[in-house]
Amino acid sequence: MKWRYKMKNIPVVMIIFGGSGDLAHRKLYPALFNLYEQGLIHDNFAVIGTARRPWSHEYLRGQVSDAIHETHTEVDENDVKDFTSHFYYQSHDVTNVEHYVTLKELAQELDDRYSAQGNRLFYMAMAPRFFGTIATHIDDQHLTGSGFNRIVVEKPFGRDLKSAEELNKQITASFSENEIFRIDHYLGKEMIQNILPMRFTNPLIKNIWNKGNLKNIQVTFAERLGVEARGEYYETSGALRDMVQNHIFQIITLLAMPEPENISSEAIHKAKQELLESLIIPNAEQVKKDFVRGQYAGSDTTFAYKKEPKVNPNSLTETYVAGKVKFERGPIADVPIYFRTGKKFKEKKNRIDIVLKHINTPYGQAYSNNITIEIDPKSRIFITINGKKISEEGIRRENLDYTFSKSELAEVPDGYECLLHDVFVNDSTNFTHWSELKRYWMFIDAIEDAWQKENEAGNPDIVQYAPYRMGPTESNHIFESPTEHWIYE
Ligand code: NAD
Repeated sequence: MKWRYKMKNIPVVMIIFGGSGDLAHRKLYPALFNLYEQGLIHDNFAVIGTARRPWSHEYLRGQVSDAIHETHTEVDENDVKDFTSHFYYQSHDVTNVEHYVTLKELAQELDDRYSAQGNRLFYMAMAPRFFGTIATHIDDQHLTGSGFNRIVVEKPFGRDLKSAEELNKQITASFSENEIFRIDHYLGKEMIQNILPMRFTNPLIKNIWNKGNLKNIQVTFAERLGVEARGEYYETSGALRDMVQNHIFQIITLLAMPEPENISSEAIHKAKQELLESLIIPNAEQVKKDFVRGQYAGSDTTFAYKKEPKVNPNSLTETYVAGKVKFERGPIADVPIYFRTGKKFKEKKNRIDIVLKHINTPYGQAYSNNITIEIDPKSRIFITINGKKISEEGIRRENLDYTFSKSELAEVPDGYECLLHDVFVNDSTNFTHWSELKRYWMFIDAIEDAWQKENEAGNPDIVQYAPYRMGPTESNHIFESPTEHWIYE
């Protein structure tokens, strides 16, 4: 990725809300250090970490240094020292208006000290319930600078269309759409960023990307873990909001969008928006037919979801969802895109299977060609291909593999590094535009509403599934034809 780091020494004061949190420690500080090592930020930057705890600048610097050592095997200690010297801590309760006045003064002082040219970057690395409050006080206490102003908003952005609209209103009081970076770290992953180049540089792939050739597309996001200690949060979310509204829909959009006029951020968002306007929003009847929701059951060795700590024993929150998405326009208009995601699958696996239609062959039955993109835990693409069996009659199936070598893998930056880089250089290609997010929420709301009505009628259609297998077998019934099935089993 070094080729991307064309800009150097970007002047900026960055303010992280949630500077003592897990995301900041595990992801943001190591990513910022890598960007510093590559010179993207270097002499003219300062980072203010804020949280409620009464830390000192020195204590925060120690934390940042620990975060770097925990994620890097070899570091130059002089670099770590110089890098951490740019960090400052401000004890700050985001609900206290007066604290924003102190924060503003510190930002201005650091701007002068580091010649940051009035540039401000705000990062909301906190629980989503605080996003609106922070945005409101950035506005009413005039925290924006005289140079560029950008804000990064973590997921989830709202919990339905209404709350997302409200949050967007609060943020747009101080920031215009092109200054808002709604982050989904999945879009920073190498294999996700590979989808468009793969689709549009290979005639082999580009020319079959249509209803005539594709039978369906399948997106699977399987987790081995249960909700662990996150029961309380999960009860307010569920698999649909937690995984589908963001990661899965972003991937579906990349798979189904028309070819952009060029690869600028504007052109890519334009193509995505064109597609999403034609997203078919399901009605209650379609939800019943095309979607499955489930909860993991228990076993001798593991708890059922309803028995997990801080989970309502009568909970109707889904830990699994499978469903169907279709578009009216775009290159794969009318091709069914099936997705499923859930906890306590047999293994962690995030993958996309593109299934081609069968053809008649003079050799009799052949296997279907599938293109599989594995995102996690491995980054890999493979295409199943038919050929002749050696020394006997018949057709065999082999994989054509596209994998990374060990040294290439070592070069792949973490998603957060990639995306933070993009924020610094003002490239919003891999962030969610408001008009896209709105369509995602409309789809999710339609399903949530249908489920809610079932729940209220005392008739919730939610199935229990065996842990550490492939989720509920009911998901085999959402296919449009009896010849379709899940490729990954
Ligand atoms: P966390 O609970 O570890 O950190 C929250 C931070 O907010 C802490 O620094 C805490 O001190 C601070 N805080 C809480 N109340 C405050 C208040 N009133 N005033 C000031 N500070 C206050 O959370 P996290 O895991 O770091 O997650 C932060 C955000 O990042 C969430 O939106 C989450 O969805 C998102 N996210 C996290 C991860 C991850 O790996 N942790 C990954 C993807 C997205």
